[in-house]
This record gives sequence, C-alpha cells and structure tokens, in this order.
Amino acid sequence: MNFEMTDAQRMIRDMVREFAEKEIRPRAAEIDQTDEFPQDLYRRMAELGILGMTLSPEYGGSGADTVSWAIAQEEMARASVVVADIQLLNKLMQDMILRNGTEAQKGKYLPAMGRGEKICVIAQTEPGTGSDVAGIQTTARLEREGYVLNGTKRFITCAMVCDLAVVVATVDKAKGRQGITLFLVEKGTPGFSPGSKERLMGVRGMGTGELVFDNCWIPRENLLGGECEGFKRAMMSLDTGRIGIGCQAVGLAQAAMEEAIRYARQRTAFGQPIASNQGIQFMLAEMSAGIEAARLRLRHAAFLKDQGRPIIREAAEAKLLASELVVRVTKDALQIHGAYGYSKDFPIERMYREAKVYQIWEGTSEIQRMVIARQLLKEYGG
Ligand SMILES: Cc1cc2nc3c(=O)[nH]c(=O)nc-3n(C[C@H](O)[C@H](O)[C@H](O)COP(=O)(O)OP(=O)(O)OC[C@H]3O[C@@H](n4cnc5c(N)ncnc54)[C@H](O)[C@@H]3O)c2cc1C
Repeated sequence: MNFEMTDAQRMIRDMVREFAEKEIRPRAAEIDQTDEFPQDLYRRMAELGILGMTLSPEYGGSGADTVSWAIAQEEMARASVVVADIQLLNKLMQDMILRNGTEAQKGKYLPAMGRGEKICVIAQTEPGTGSDVAGIQTTARLEREGYVLNGTKRFITCAMVCDLAVVVATVDKAKGRQGITLFLVEKGTPGFSPGSKERLMGVRGMGTGELVFDNCWIPRENLLGGECEGFKRAMMSLDTGRIGIGCQAVGLAQAAMEEAIRYARQRTAFGQPIASNQGIQFMLAEMSAGIEAARLRLRHAAFLKDQGRPIIREAAEAKLLASELVVRVTKDALQIHGAYGYSKDFPIERMYREAKVYQIWEGTSEIQRMVIARQLLKEYGG
C-alpha cells in the first residue's frame, strides 16, 4: 500500500494550488456576490491545461489519472467550489462524449472543450423530477431523419452560458427508463433556448438555470449512444462525478476548518483566545478527523477507478461521507465565528451556504444511501 502521491500528482497539486491561491481565492466572494460566470478564470483553466487535464493527448489533453484530478478538485474547491465545479462539469461531459460519442462527435467537441472554447452541460433534471430519472417528461419524436425535442429542464449548471447540451429525453414515455435517450444539442439550434436563471442560496456564478426545448429539431447524427440506451449511459458517469463532488466537499470543509482555526486563535473572550477552550478545540478535532477520513475514502475510490475496478459503492460512500461532513464542518466553523460568522464580513457565511448543495446534487444523500444499501445487499447476498 502506498499513500504517497506520485511526482506527477504532486506537480499537478502544486500547480493547481498556486493557481487557486493566487487567482481563484481573491475572486470567490465577488463571484458569489455578482452571480456572474467567471469567463476569465475559465479561460485561465484552459491555458493552464486544467480543463483538458484528464483528456487523452489524442484530443489535446494531458491524460492525467483520476487521482490527480481528485486532488485538483479539492485544491480548487478550497478556494472556490464554483470554479472547481465548472471544471468538473467540463471533465464529466468530456468523459460522456468520449465513452458514448461517434468519432465525428469526439473530433468535433473534445479538443474544443479542452481548449475552453465550448461549455457543455448535462440537462437531465426537470421541474417535476430529479432523483427519479425514469420519470422525465422531455420527449424526442422521430421526424424528418432526425428528432424533435420538447420539454423544459431546470437547475442546469452553466445553462445560461452553455454552447452544447447533453439532453436526457424519452423516445417513449411508456417504456420508463428503457425509453431514455441522450442527444447533443448545440447553442443556436432553433427551438433551443435558455429559460430563467435560478436564484440560488449558494454556488452562485455558474449560470445555473432552465433550458427550454420547443419543437427543437436535431439531425439523427446528434444521437449520443444508441436510442433507448440513455439511462445506462447517463448512470455510468455518476461514479466519477461523485468522486469529484466529494473532493469539492472536502476542499470546502478544509477551507472552513482553516478559517475557524485562524479565527479561534485571534478572537478573545473571558481574557483568553477562544481556541483555549476545550469546547472549541473538540470541534476543531472533529473537523480534522472527518476531513482526513473522507479524503482517504475519496482518494481510494479514485485509485480504484484508475485500476478499472467497479466503484459504485465506494464512490457513493465517499460522496455521502464528504457531503454530510462539509455541512457539519461549516456549521461548526460558523459557530466558532459567533456573530461575525453570521455576517458577510467573513467567508464562512458563504461557505455555510455553499455546503448545503453537497447533500443535494450529483444524487442526494438519501439516494447515496439507497445505492450503498443496494450494493451491500448484492455483495453480501450469499
Ligand atoms: C445548484 C444545483 C445545480 C444542479 N445542476 C444540475 C445539472 O447540471 N444538471 C442536472 O440535470 N441537474 C442538476 N441539478 C439537479 C440535481 O441533480 C437534483 O436536484 C437532484 O438530483 C435531486 O432531485 P430533486 O431536486 O428533483 O429532488 P427530488 O428527487 O424531488 O427529491 C426530493 C427529496 O426526496 C428525497 N427522496 C427522493 N426519492 C427518495 C427515496 N426513494 N427515498 C428516500 N428519499 C427520497 C430526496 O433525497 C430529496 O431529499 C442541480 C441542482 C442544484 C441545486
């Protein structure tokens, strides 16, 4: 067993950490406040090779492993979860096209995504359904050597700024999950438009919002994977997504703990720094123990992924641990700040708001428990 990073992983960690400290961290509060997508940081991530870090050299990337990417996710999230998540989305969509696309689709989109020239989103959630993917109502009807899409998607990260959407639609509602199919829809296609922007409590600045498909015709070659194979294909990207999202949660928890330690050492009450109180120290100790445990579970899941091993339970457990942890850590870190924690004078207020989403996106904590339990019952089925 080797718990050390390789030289290549350490180099990536150092490069991303420097970028995060110098260029992302100073912008985190402003991105939250203005709720504007940080186009300049997106371009910088492309210049630094961060957007294409796991993409194979064939498509202009550097072919880094999942462990390196997991480390990079944590480092970026320590400075801003918004910037980290924009990178995550780009990487997951590259994987999705790489795994399911035709050679023509891969050649057309992957190099451009690595260069930061195309923002691609996953449009699955709808006003009436999120966790229950089989319940989606967006339809795709065969017509004129192509498909006509109709429906509305909600809570789509980067909807307001996207160039390309992987749309989850059904070709036959009666078939449930068996009818689900994936389509590529480009910006500018008649009948495809962004709807309202979501008014979110946290993770602001990603242009999260609606996407509307109103008799939107697309040619047959925009099918991603086979017809009626969409459910299986969409589910396959979840494991990697859960590792990335878990790493963001750990990065955010780490940042919140650092803020709490800094504040506890300098704030005095009853004639001494509040850090002298065992009650405060115990909170810090719990934070550290939880962060280390979640980080290890995540790195192990990433390592297994690089070995080509199945990671359904591992990724769900890591995501669950990290998501529950970040909510606890930011709550306690805010408590340590007292009234200042409740004001916008300190970053912990933003971190507290941002933490909550980790129990919701990329599968809620309840869904992770369902996935874990289902796997457990299979594994110990006798
Ligand atoms: C900021 C943000 C960005 C997002 N970005 C995207 C995106 O880019 N693309 C996209 O497609 N979606 C995106 N989503 C949507 C997200 O994936 C969904 O919100 C999530 O899957 C949960 O779906 P829901 O909100 O419809 O909740 P529901 O599925 O309606 O669930 C409501 C509650 O019931 C619980 N629940 C549901 N079923 C069960 C069950 N069987 N047992 C126990 N409890 C259950 C859930 O855990 C939850 O607590 C985003 C959401 C947010 C908040």
